[in-house]
Amino acid sequence: MVCSAADLAVEGLIFDVKRFAVHDGPGVRTVVFLKGCPLACAWCHNPESVSPRMELAHYAQRCIGCGACVEACPNGVHAFAPDGSHLIDRDHCQSCGRCSDACYAEALVLIGRRVRVADVLSEVLEDQSFYESSGGGVTLSGGEPFAQPSFTLALLRACRDGNLHTAVDTSGFAPWAVIEPALTHTSLVLFDVKHLDADAHRRWTGQDNALILANLRRIADAGAPIEIRVPIVPGANDEGSHLDRIATLAATLPTLTGVRLLGYHGLAGSKYASIGRSSSLPAVESPTRERLEELAARICRRCDVPVTIGV
Ligand code: SF4
Ligand code: SF4
Repeated sequence: MVCSAADLAVEGLIFDVKRFAVHDGPGVRTVVFLKGCPLACAWCHNPESVSPRMELAHYAQRCIGCGACVEACPNGVHAFAPDGSHLIDRDHCQSCGRCSDACYAEALVLIGRRVRVADVLSEVLEDQSFYESSGGGVTLSGGEPFAQPSFTLALLRACRDGNLHTAVDTSGFAPWAVIEPALTHTSLVLFDVKHLDADAHRRWTGQDNALILANLRRIADAGAPIEIRVPIVPGANDEGSHLDRIATLAATLPTLTGVRLLGYHGLAGSKYASIGRSSSLPAVESPTRERLEELAARICRRCDVPVTIGV
């Protein structure tokens, strides 16, 4: 395997590496989660992925009240109120990690890890035999991989130099000049389609969808295989007529390999709390399996590719 030394040295910020994943592209995969996303989806289930910086998570249920964090922090970020509640002045946190290092109970965790492409590649290659036997590979997810264009491009190129199957899970909200060079090194684009209505897209994600839809078309025109992924969020984008429109659009993409419906789940609530945020999504029930199957069947009627239901 020959990778460019320049690629191997490129640095990026990731927040997780998940091995033996089976929902983010074909076969058994390693998913590398990059930190930073330009969208603000109300249903985001990885809120710790949004900030492009390292950040401190506090898991209150693990805290034993030892006070080591108060002693460790040079910026006075931690304090305890008279009622015993833990106060965290996040505005003055510089993500140095001293408090999380001192926290014996692992109630404090610094989210985000600066890594080189070489570091990620060596981690990824540990499971090469599983990729070969299952048709799997590596998936870059996030966050938004194209929000770290140099790192994403170098990592994809290094993986492809190693003959690995590569997938990128993207919102499509990135300049075409960033996406295009990556396509040569990408086996499959997992393209999230959240809402086709521009106003609704702005309302639920904070951004317009014109660039996203233009990029979807450009990726297809460039000949790159695409799997469309649709989060199904009750009350936001799950009307049957909306899924019909997505199916109609999907049917026009010559390189489409499949459509995957991802039912919303509300399991990220504790993640929001741990980083001092709250979800902006009104309380909604997760869609039932029957509802997801009903929507999948609607898409199948208009679009001749496999439609699957995932997590
Ligand atoms: S990460 Fe550093 S600056 Fe932030 S709270 Fe912990 S010790 Fe203080
Ligand atoms: S160091 Fe950890 S366990 Fe101790 S008070 Fe701080 S958060 Fe709680």
